[in-house]
This record gives sequence, structure tokens and C-alpha cells, in this order.
Amino acid sequence: MKDRVAIVGAGVSGLTCGVVFAESGYRTAIFAEETGQRTTSGVAAALWFPYDAEPAAAVIEWALETYQVLVDLNREPRTGVSMIELCQFSRTGEIQIPDWAIPLGASAIPMVPSVIPSEVSRCCGITGPQSELPRTFTSGFAMTVPLMDTTIYLDYLAKRFLGAGGEIHTGIRFERPEDVNLAFDVVINCTGIGAKNLVHDEQLEPHRGQVAIVPKVENLTCAIVCDDPPLMYAIPRANNCVFGGTNEVSDELDVDPIATARILDECSRALKIEKPDVLSERVGLRPFRKSGVRLERGCLRDGRTVVHNYGHGGSGFTLSWGCANAVLELASSR
Ligand SMILES: Cc1cc2nc3c(=O)[nH]c(=O)nc-3n(C[C@H](O)[C@H](O)[C@H](O)COP(=O)(O)OP(=O)(O)OC[C@H]3O[C@@H](n4cnc5c(N)ncnc54)[C@H](O)[C@@H]3O)c2cc1C
Repeated sequence: MKDRVAIVGAGVSGLTCGVVFAESGYRTAIFAEETGQRTTSGVAAALWFPYDAEPAAAVIEWALETYQVLVDLNREPRTGVSMIELCQFSRTGEIQIPDWAIPLGASAIPMVPSVIPSEVSRCCGITGPQSELPRTFTSGFAMTVPLMDTTIYLDYLAKRFLGAGGEIHTGIRFERPEDVNLAFDVVINCTGIGAKNLVHDEQLEPHRGQVAIVPKVENLTCAIVCDDPPLMYAIPRANNCVFGGTNEVSDELDVDPIATARILDECSRALKIEKPDVLSERVGLRPFRKSGVRLERGCLRDGRTVVHNYGHGGSGFTLSWGCANAVLELASSR
């Protein structure tokens, strides 16, 4: 008989591992303090793009594996996954198109002065008076990537896991991984920033991110992202638009009204629109790990197998399927 598997954590990492284990025939249960919208995963934008996670080589491999799974999920509307054109810009100098992005169709956005407004507005789907976008950016590239609407996608994962025979137990906070009931042979640690306390990992660093959810922006059909400080992104979703963002080392979960004002200023200026109303403000702690994502097998003090899967920084969605498949492989190896 196959091992009984307990997954700690119900963010994107825990839910994706849940699906992979349950669909591989393991009797699997998820235990978590919070689920869905109350996790860091519920705050994410959540666009497929490797960002703020280490180590680069493994991150790209997991990300590309995840990309293929998400492209398939995009064919089923109930998943909340869609494909969107991402326009990645720089404010200073020439942006480099990463080597891995070229086979995915990434191409430079022409930035000859006379071409800027029409080209940028073309990829934003903006026409008419708004097409004269300000010259905030100096270079950019465009590519088509998966976008997960977290309000749909996290529920989709949970339903798919339950449909494969999994169980979800919420409102449970463990002090140590050994607290998981001994009926489970294997423990998978998907606790995100919570691993700082659960396994006392000093390598984990909270990279605080704040976003403002605003009403849909008319004619904005592509995601606009600029990673140069100040970090700025505008990501249209089915029912609203996510304006961001911030990235600072802090574990402050309260909303900072000054940051919201700055985000609104920056996004409205780049899109050349009036400042929109704010529907809600959200804060999450990206689980950045200085020595890189922890994806490794170990042994608990009581002798059971543990597989750690946390520390995905700003890329938890982007790496989710690649990491979950690697966790399954590690847990199954003898
Ligand atoms: C503003 C913002 C924007 C982002 N945008 C993107 C993006 O566009 N693309 C992308 O790929 N990523 C993005 N990210 C990063 C992404 O959100 C994270 O990498 C991802 O959510 C991490 O998922 P996780 O499942 O590992 O952790 P979490 O979502 O934090 O889930 C952790 C789970 O573990 C549980 N838990 C923790 N400790 C315990 C304990 N002791 N006992 C029991 N349960 C416990 C929690 O309750 C929760 O269920 C963004 C993040 C932020 C903040």
C-alpha cells in the first residue's frame, strides 16, 4: 500500500502538491492554518514570470515545466488560467530579453521615439486619445504568458484535490513538523514564509508586497510590468485589475496608505488614465529564501520522511507545477 501523505500548507504550493500526490494514488491530506484568499497566494497577481527567486538555473527549469501545464489548463475556462500578453519594460537603458524567453516567443518592443506611443498602445490594446502614452519607459519586450486569477484558480486546485480523494483540514497551526499525526508516513512542508517558525529557517526573508485592486481599466488587455524601482505593474483580470507594487524586506502586514497612493500615481501615469477608485488593498509576504528555494528530502526527529517545498519568493505560481512534480519524485524515491 502507498504511504499516507500529509501536506502542511494550503497556498498554491500545498494545493498543487496535493493534486499531484492525490492523482498519483497517494492517500493525501492537507493541514493548514489558512486557505485560499487568506494566504499569501491569495494576494498574488498571479502572472507566470520568474521573479525574486533563487537559484536561477533551477528556477528557470521549474518555471518552464509549469508554463506547459498552465498552457494546458488555459484550455479549460473553469480553471481561472488564461493567456495574456506581458509587456515587460525598463525605465533605464536597454532591457535584455532572457535567453529562456526567446523560444517562448519573446520579442523586443520597438522604442524608436516616433514609434513609442503607437507600439506601446498597440500591445496595451489602447487606441484613441489615450494612445499617446508618456515616455516612462526606454525599452521593453513582449511575450504571451499564463495568468492565474487567484479568486478562481485556488478554488479550482482545492476542488480538483478533493475530487481526487484528498482531504483539507483548516484552522490547524503546527509548532513543529513532528506535530503531524503519526498516521501519516510522509510530511510535505509547503508553509511559505511560515517555515521561518515551523522549521526555524533563518534563510527566509519576508519580501513584503502591497497591491491595490481597482476596477477594470477600459481597453487594457495586456499586463504592463516594470521591475526597475519603483516596481510597477498593471494586470487586468476578468473582473478587476491589479495595480502594484512594492518589494521590501518587512513582515508588516498592515496596509500602508502612502504605498497605495504611490502605486496609483505610478500606474495611472504609465497608462495615462485618471486615478481609479480603489476596490481593496492587499499585503502579502513573498517567501524569499537567500540560499534558494528549499526543495529537499530529509528526516523528522521521529524518523518519518519530510520533503520541504518552500521559499519560492515572488514566483510561487510560476514554479508551482515544476516544484510539485519534483517533490513527488523525491518523496517516492527509496
Ligand atoms: C503582492 C504579491 C504579488 C505576487 N505576484 C506573483 C506573481 O505574479 N506570480 C507568481 O508566481 N508569484 C507571485 N507572488 C508570490 C507568490 O504569491 C508566493 O510565492 C506564493 O504565494 C507562495 O505560495 P506558498 O503556497 O508557498 O505559501 P503561502 O501562500 O503563504 O501558503 C502557506 C500555507 O501554509 C500555512 N502555514 C504556514 N505556517 C503554518 C503552520 N505552522 N501550521 C499550519 N499551516 C501553516 C498557511 O496558513 C498557508 O496555508 C506574489 C506575491 C505577492 C505578495
